Amino acid sequence: MGLNLVVLVKQVPDTQNITGDAMKEDGTVNRAALPAIFNPDDLYALEAALRLKDRFPGTRVQVITMGPPAAAAILKECLYRGADFTALVSDRGFAGADTLATSYALKCAIETTGPWDLVFCGRQAIDGDTAQVGPQTAEKLGCNQITSVSRIEAVDIPQRTITARRSVEGGWERVRTGLPVLLTFTAEGEAPRPPSAKKTMAYKAVSPQADPRGNSAMALWDISAIKADPEQCGLSGSPTKVKNITSVVLTAGEIRYIDPGEGGITGLVHELIADHTLG
Ligand SMILES: Cc1cc2nc3c(=O)[nH]c(=O)nc-3n(C[C@H](O)[C@H](O)[C@H](O)COP(=O)(O)OP(=O)(O)OC[C@H]3O[C@@H](n4cnc5c(N)ncnc54)[C@H](O)[C@@H]3O)c2cc1C
Repeated sequence: MGLNLVVLVKQVPDTQNITGDAMKEDGTVNRAALPAIFNPDDLYALEAALRLKDRFPGTRVQVITMGPPAAAAILKECLYRGADFTALVSDRGFAGADTLATSYALKCAIETTGPWDLVFCGRQAIDGDTAQVGPQTAEKLGCNQITSVSRIEAVDIPQRTITARRSVEGGWERVRTGLPVLLTFTAEGEAPRPPSAKKTMAYKAVSPQADPRGNSAMALWDISAIKADPEQCGLSGSPTKVKNITSVVLTAGEIRYIDPGEGGITGLVHELIADHTLG
């Protein structure tokens, strides 16, 4: 007996390789100047889903991303690693989505995949960085959620329960809950597998199809395909209003050498407390 798994992945600008052109004059991110990559936590979420597929025959892994046409590149990477089906959720009506509108669209897309047992997300995307989309999507689906998961310890299909290890400050805790459930993963889990050469050859030419037939492994879903309410998508569904964006450029000023002994460190801490940097 297999499981129906859905993985949410996001294509993000590589914020770890920032160059001088990374910000525009108005303070917004210059996405064209940064290479687009697979959000790191999402690779761990995908790996966790693929491991359940390896363990339970008959398990199906479906992957969803909401983004522009270029985001199809990360869906291909999922197929190369072993996903069964992927869907690019893309429509001009999704533009300007905040986390509320994003999680609404993702909830509609998850429901479009059919009955599901587990949803896998990254804990956090390295661009938006809010860690809100997973929990908000679980809330909208009305299912259980376990956040900051590093590994799945057990899944009992007949009892419909899952036991997972989640990271907490200073350690970890073991949590058990019932299916269906949404899990958000950190990058502390099992190392993501590399793409398979055979699958790369098989899916090299795949592209998003509005009406996938036969063995097409990548669908293109717009607002009507996921039966979403246009008013709850994109800008109209986003209560967050950005009032002002400031580009803060930190520059090194005066350099001071602190004695690495106890006296030097204590003096520095007192200084930082006195000028309210600490405390
Ligand atoms: C007012 C406003 C306007 C915005 N306008 C735009 C815009 O025009 N264009 C734009 O690109 N961004 C826009 N954003 C940013 C957008 O809200 C976030 O990129 C998005 O909601 C995801 O939030 P996050 O990056 O914090 O994800 P997190 O909550 O940190 O992500 C957690 C996990 O959720 C899943 N996830 C997150 N986003 C997606 C996705 N799109 N598809 C699949 N899975 C996902 C992944 O598994 C990810 O690891 C806007 C934000 C605001 C507040």
